[in-house]
Formats: sequence, C-alpha cells, structure tokens
Amino acid sequence: MGKLDGRVVIVTGAARGQGEQEARLFAAEGARVAVADVLDDRGEALAKEIGALYVHLDVGREDDWRSAVRAVKKAYGRVDGLVNNAGILRFNSLVDTPLEEFLQVVQVNQVGCFLGIRSVAPEMEDGGTIVNTASYTAVTGMAAVGAYAATKHAILGLTRVAALELAPRRIRVNAVCPGAIDTPMSNPARLDPDADAEETSRALDQLYRRLVPLGRIGRPEEVARLALFLTGADSSYITGQPFVIDGGWLAGVTVV
Ligand code: NAD
Repeated sequence: MGKLDGRVVIVTGAARGQGEQEARLFAAEGARVAVADVLDDRGEALAKEIGALYVHLDVGREDDWRSAVRAVKKAYGRVDGLVNNAGILRFNSLVDTPLEEFLQVVQVNQVGCFLGIRSVAPEMEDGGTIVNTASYTAVTGMAAVGAYAATKHAILGLTRVAALELAPRRIRVNAVCPGAIDTPMSNPARLDPDADAEETSRALDQLYRRLVPLGRIGRPEEVARLALFLTGADSSYITGQPFVIDGGWLAGVTVV
C-alpha cells in the first residue's frame, strides 16, 4: 500500500527541482498528482512519464488557479492535498532592489501561496493537507536575498493563520524550510546542456562542507520525503509548523 493511496494532490512548480521530486514520490506512493507549472513542455513530459495530469498554472494569477482547480476536479473529482512549491529567487542588496523586482518575487512566492490556499482549501471536502514551501531564509536572514527572505517569512505567517482557520475542517497546514538544495535554483548548471551538473554538485558539496554540519548540499529527493510525511497520515497530529531541513545549518556555529 502507498502512503497516499486514493489522495489527489496538486504540486505547483512541479516541472523540475523539488516539485518534480515531490510529484514523482507522491505518484509512486499512490496519489493522483496534478503537476502544475509555467514550463509546459517539461511539465507535460513529466506528467506523461508518471501518469499524472499536467495543468498550466502561473501561481500569481487568480484566473490560472480557477482553471487549474476546475481541471483537477474534472479529471479526478476531488482535491485532498496541495504543495505550494513554486518559487523564484533574485539576488540583490535591499538598497539596490528595484520595486518591480521586489514585487515580482512577492507575486510568485507570497501571493502564489496565498492564492493556492484560498483556491484549493474550499474544494477539500473531506479534510486535507497543505504544505507551503518556505526556506531556511524564513527563519533567519541571508544577505543579498531580501525580497526572497521577506516572502519566505510571510509564508510562515500564512501557514500559521491557515492552520488555525482550517483546522475545524480537518485541513492541516505546515511549511517546509529547506536550506541549500541541489536544484536549478541553487545550481543553474543543471539547466545548461553543455555544463557538467555533477561536477558543479561536487563543487557545491565542497562549499557547503564548510557551512553545514552534515557537510554537503541537500538533495531535492530529501525535501520530497519531508513533504510526503506532511501530506500523509504519518503527520496526522501536526499542523501550523515550520520544518527546517538544512543539514544542521541553523543549529549554530562552530568556533573551535
Ligand atoms: P527550481 O527553480 O528548480 O524550481 C522552481 C519551479 O517553480 C520551476 O519548475 C519553475 O518553473 C516554477 N515556477 C516559477 N515561477 C512560477 C510561477 N509563477 N507559477 C508556477 N510555477 C512557477 O527551484 P527549486 O529549488 O526546486 O524550488 C522549489 C521551491 O523551494 C521554491 O519555493 C524555492 O524558493 C524553495 N527553496 C529552494 C531552495 C534551494 O536551495 N533550491 C532552498 C529553500 C527553498
């Protein structure tokens, strides 16, 4: 038996990276998965491979949510789970961040998460789960990612309020807070057909050996296993919580 047998779960930003691994793992655990993204070719190919439904969804657009939820209900008849995973990152010091760039990050990361909760929770008729993707930068600062860190802190606020408001309907809402994970966001060489992504992964492991107690960058499959835990019955008494998955990065510093 799979851990998600019979459940219908929407994963946003699922065409690649952590969302892709979540979609793969959830499908393997028996869920009927909706792969949602703006990368249509990649998302459609993945959906075909794992027997899922692909829906085009720009998470910052209200109309897209409406039609995506309609398509999922038409295909599967119900919705039981949502992983708000889509996100973007921009590097800039706060004083150099143009307003347009700040608002672009807010629109995808924060508004996208809000619209996801607001669009999907009312459709969960028999309880459900929502997993929001925050970040290590939701619980501490990191220079040069001010807009991103602001949205990830906001996602924890949304998670807690949604958990309170939706508990009477048996909808649990939690957040994952990944540290550095080896996806195209942290390792853009993964998108370059001429680059050796494994080589850059090894270089990232070297970099994180000094920063992270467990001595390496994280893998998207590891975040997917946490999202599975929070989506399945194993976490049945947990709601409103952030779950840090960072190799010990936040545990503290070593001075000797
Ligand atoms: P990624 O860039 O590989 O994947 C992000 C996915 O989101 C892509 O498929 C992209 O097309 C999709 N996306 C972007 N904008 C979208 C939009 N408007 N609507 C729908 N889909 C959209 O990066 P990832 O590492 O897999 O990121 C997944 C999540 O994890 C993000 O929320 C990110 O902020 C978060 N995160 C990543 C790391 C890391 O180190 N990689 C660390 C902490 C948190």
